[in-house]
Amino acid sequence: MTSPQAQEEAQKRTAILTVDDDPAVSRAVARDLRRRFGEQYRIVRAESGAAALDALRQLKLRGDLVAVILADYRMPQMNGVEFLEQAMDIYPGARRALLTAYADTGAAIDAINVVDLDYYLLKPWDPPEEKLYPVVDALLDMWLSSDHRPVPEIKVVGHRWSARSSEVREFLARNQVPYRWYASDEPEGQRLLDAAGTDGSVLPLVVTADGDSLIEPSDAELADRVGLATTPSKDFYDLVVIGGGPAGLGAAVYGASEGLRTVLVERTATGGQAGQSSRIENYLGFPDGVSGSQLTERARRQAAKFGAEVLTAREVTGLEVHGSGRTIRFGDGSAVDAHAVILATGVTYRQLTAPGVPDFSGRGVYYGSALTEAAGCAGQDIYIVGGANSAGQAAVYLSKGCRSVSILVRAPSLTKSMSHYLVEQVQSIPAIKVRTCTEVVGAHGSDHLEQLTLRDSNTGETRTVDAQYLFVFIGAAPLTDWLDGVVARDDHGFILTGPDLLVEGQPPRDWPLDRPPYHLETSVPGIFAAGDVRSESAKRVASAVGEGAMAVMLVHRYLEML
Ligand SMILES: Cc1cc2nc3c(=O)[nH]c(=O)nc-3n(C[C@H](O)[C@H](O)[C@H](O)COP(=O)(O)OP(=O)(O)OC[C@H]3O[C@@H](n4cnc5c(N)ncnc54)[C@H](O)[C@@H]3O)c2cc1C
Repeated sequence: MTSPQAQEEAQKRTAILTVDDDPAVSRAVARDLRRRFGEQYRIVRAESGAAALDALRQLKLRGDLVAVILADYRMPQMNGVEFLEQAMDIYPGARRALLTAYADTGAAIDAINVVDLDYYLLKPWDPPEEKLYPVVDALLDMWLSSDHRPVPEIKVVGHRWSARSSEVREFLARNQVPYRWYASDEPEGQRLLDAAGTDGSVLPLVVTADGDSLIEPSDAELADRVGLATTPSKDFYDLVVIGGGPAGLGAAVYGASEGLRTVLVERTATGGQAGQSSRIENYLGFPDGVSGSQLTERARRQAAKFGAEVLTAREVTGLEVHGSGRTIRFGDGSAVDAHAVILATGVTYRQLTAPGVPDFSGRGVYYGSALTEAAGCAGQDIYIVGGANSAGQAAVYLSKGCRSVSILVRAPSLTKSMSHYLVEQVQSIPAIKVRTCTEVVGAHGSDHLEQLTLRDSNTGETRTVDAQYLFVFIGAAPLTDWLDGVVARDDHGFILTGPDLLVEGQPPRDWPLDRPPYHLETSVPGIFAAGDVRSESAKRVASAVGEGAMAVMLVHRYLEML
């Protein structure tokens, strides 16, 4: 995303800070850091949390940058986690690692959530070549690619009831592209519109970091202009992964790490449904939960680190089989070829079709955009339709800023559709009301949603309530029509794989090989499916990641037989 010269320039004014209350240890860490990183980075050391905070403030005043902070956990007065919490206010973009003794590992794990810790290092870190340097290298890579440096910012001028403005914000947020939002009816927004020579009748206006104005840009145009990769660098890959949710990211990490030339193609932003989850509490290894965007952003970095190409804002619209080659066609007609393909396209939210609701999509009615829209909902009474975990998570998240959150559910209770832990959370929050046996039968307003009509399915009675925000989580469907005639699907459009393809123990009639399809293989050899798009899949983050990894193992088996 940044040129080598820009990186060099940034590094010259960039520090790595280390703090440890034991002077001998502090000196030793600084010495080891200097030996490996001293030529490119300034190594700053301190012997207490307070002194380190002072040093950070000085650096800030001078306009210097801090890429990495290594803090000892066990320090008197202020421990490493308390220090990092304050350090984050000064340098939020600096990557953070904690130095701990074995006995304090638990505290370090807790810190992963409190201060979004990137790593913890066990003392002693000898030999540094094995234990310290790879960690600091990884932290520096993260920092260099994360654009937390003071780069000129992207500005978005829009209106909260402009559907495309809302989509652009969602696109940038989900792709982790920092931007600043200006309302078109506020003075600064107006000034930017004037400067761009537009009257604001078509929104949003996006002003890039280079100062170029884009009016109502498409996702592809936006991706290109903000530095996201959209074009494959090769014509041929060992593996093309279609879809950048947990299954696709899992496949990309395992594919690239095991030496396959791998490209992942995502039509909007990596993360998929999981990227829109405010808190995933049942993913292995995160006892306190993890936000979906954090989890999937780490996975994206991991895939890139292993050399997978990650393309965003590119929709795959066709898949062709030419002998042992597989051709993946994009919406603009261009194509790449591959030995093997993993379909990880997941599912897409079903739309609520009650009269009036479609008219307000993006203008008060949102599908899964709870994270982006949360700020606008502050102090409002908001409505959520749906009884599954996604609805529960959104309710918990939004309840922090809203006056009230009503969950509208057709069933008589949440217990059958929502996990027990989430039902308990929902019930413990006074601002959340669960309205069972209730459905939305109409939406009304002018340029945005203003009212909803609700019906009680027991009595048939209807009533109209004031509502500016409606979030819809009513299940999802696999959008696989583009695969019609290519791979076999079930009656609902989910892709059939492995044993599900067998009829009376036999593979489908046009299956060309002597062996039956592998477990995640579709009706075409070398094309695999993983995650939610697969018929009978578990519809969970962990299973999607697992299937992505397993599909790669089967790709290897397939390639060996080619
Ligand atoms: C709000 C919410 C909260 C959730 N919370 C939890 C939870 O707490 N725990 C849990 O286990 N599960 C949770 N889930 C379910 C979990 O997120 C999914 O099971 C998981 O994301 C499935 O991963 P996937 O990769 O198979 O598909 P998806 O996550 O659906 O990703 C598919 C990706 O493919 C892309 N794509 C689709 N078609 C194309 C195409 N033609 N070309 C290019 N790209 C394409 C999509 O844009 C998408 O990014 C939640 C789901 C939601 C919506």
